[in-house]
Amino acid sequence: MTSDVDIAQAADMLPIKEVAEKIGIEHQAVELYGDYKAKIDENRIEGLEQKKDGKIILVTAIHPTPAGEGKTTTSVGLGDALQKIGKQAAIASREPSLGPVFGMKGGAAGGGYAQVVPMEDINLHFTGDFHAISAANNLLAALIDNHIHHGNELNIDARKIKWKRAMDMNDRQLRHIVDGLQGKTNGIPREDGFQITVASEIMAILCLAHDLEDMKEKLEKIVIGYTTDDQPVTAGELKAHGAMATLLKDALKPNLVQTLEHTPAFVHGGPFANIAHGCNSVKATNIAAKYADYVVTEAGFGADLGAEKFVDIKCRLSGLKPSASVVVATIRALKMHGGLPKNELDTEDLEALKKGLPNLLKHLENMKDVFGLSAVVAINKFPTDHEAELQLVAEKCRELGIKVVLSDVWAKGGAGATELAEEVVQLTEEETTVTYAYDIEDPITVKIEKLVQNIYGGDGIDLTRGAQKEIEQLEALGYGNLPVCMAKTQYSFSGDQHKLGRPRDFTLPIRDVTLSAGAGFIVVLTGSMMTMPGLPKTPSAEHIDVDEDGKVVGLF
Ligand code: ADP
Ligand code: MG
Repeated sequence: MTSDVDIAQAADMLPIKEVAEKIGIEHQAVELYGDYKAKIDENRIEGLEQKKDGKIILVTAIHPTPAGEGKTTTSVGLGDALQKIGKQAAIASREPSLGPVFGMKGGAAGGGYAQVVPMEDINLHFTGDFHAISAANNLLAALIDNHIHHGNELNIDARKIKWKRAMDMNDRQLRHIVDGLQGKTNGIPREDGFQITVASEIMAILCLAHDLEDMKEKLEKIVIGYTTDDQPVTAGELKAHGAMATLLKDALKPNLVQTLEHTPAFVHGGPFANIAHGCNSVKATNIAAKYADYVVTEAGFGADLGAEKFVDIKCRLSGLKPSASVVVATIRALKMHGGLPKNELDTEDLEALKKGLPNLLKHLENMKDVFGLSAVVAINKFPTDHEAELQLVAEKCRELGIKVVLSDVWAKGGAGATELAEEVVQLTEEETTVTYAYDIEDPITVKIEKLVQNIYGGDGIDLTRGAQKEIEQLEALGYGNLPVCMAKTQYSFSGDQHKLGRPRDFTLPIRDVTLSAGAGFIVVLTGSMMTMPGLPKTPSAEHIDVDEDGKVVGLF
């Protein structure tokens, strides 16, 4: 079988200059990173703000299972399909993290004949954005400890430092560490830890910033920890924001690449959706909408995390407005939600499908009833799908007034989703008023409860005493009116990753609440969610190699 990387390497790419020209991006704004990658510098474009915005289509999905869903594949294919039916389309998606690339998930540039290229670059160092984010994150960490070392004028309590170091790798060994050992000249010993770069507040800031000035202001507001008398200490007080912004000035510019069918793709920013806000940068979506009539953007994992944060955080903080949504599902995954084990997914099983379908239906209800968004279901086609199964999904969705369309972009590229593209275009013709899942002025616990009751379908929340205290402190300090960013398992509506389908009668345990004052949200950690993943027993890294000509194999 031809692998994703084989297909990508055989791609006939256009020079990126031509891709930019195709949608009318002024040549002086295109900063080339070789022939096939560019960054777009908005400062060199006049009158951008006055340009009319294209329509934004949000691609999201059911809860992921090991059977695979294919959100990125579908997003890329839908962009190509829109182009194929004669529309000016672009894609806005996230940059992959090295953690999953070398861990379990593999690359994240789409799959089959629906990929963004150059695939190896995008999956590896790309234009260096993640390295810049790690550097800015770690500069702040170094400045904090240096400040304490040189007398601690700000009275930072070393036991109350919240800022962690960051690295774009899955390394559980670094989750909890003790550093500053070996005496007076080598720092102050303290408990510390690393998180993965995609979970860093800097990533969120980069993704939510409107421009360089706004980014700098957000960096200045980062709360790194507390003083001995519990007052917040900011990056601004450490005079860190200017140097951090300097490290990030190029990373802030959206990256432009192309699909296998030369549709422009803005791949920029990459927070995880289970531990961060999960959407590509506001700047990339914005600029894509200025030049394309239709922008396909992805927010995963499941819609309960991805779409919720897209609407409640990204859209609320930026003013962006989606016009329609696509919810991706596979028959295989729905059968897994119905309790079928992975090795039995090939045979027709309407009973299992019936049991798993409520997962999809609940997501669709949320899109319609909570967010006010029109939706179409894209069934990402596998050769093992059975006609009767497809009929059943179509029938159940029809009861909600939602259409189901088959997408075969993995095998056929854009040609495999022209019907989906037509349906999406039609949906975007209707006027939509996007609504939020909670009010920004709601108390923090009410916001979380509304998400649990209205989006997850649970009963309520179960707060630890620590989380309760933290919430009281944040509200007392005036941070109560920020949106909440849920860090929850991506596999279930509940906090228990084994509860597939549509679980009911559960409460969500809230372990901790942390402030991201710079990004402008409060992170709510449920159950045992960690911000530094580990590698699996057999990591993908074992299969990745490069030959003597520099050709990469095994990337997926
Ligand atoms: P997601 O964005 O939901 O995590 P991706 O689009 O990255 O998923 O797809 C995950 C993997 O599944 C990729 O390697 C892709 O090639 C593969 N895949 C996606 N759709 C199909 C399909 N219809 N048939 C076979 N493989 C697929
Ligand atoms: Mg993806």
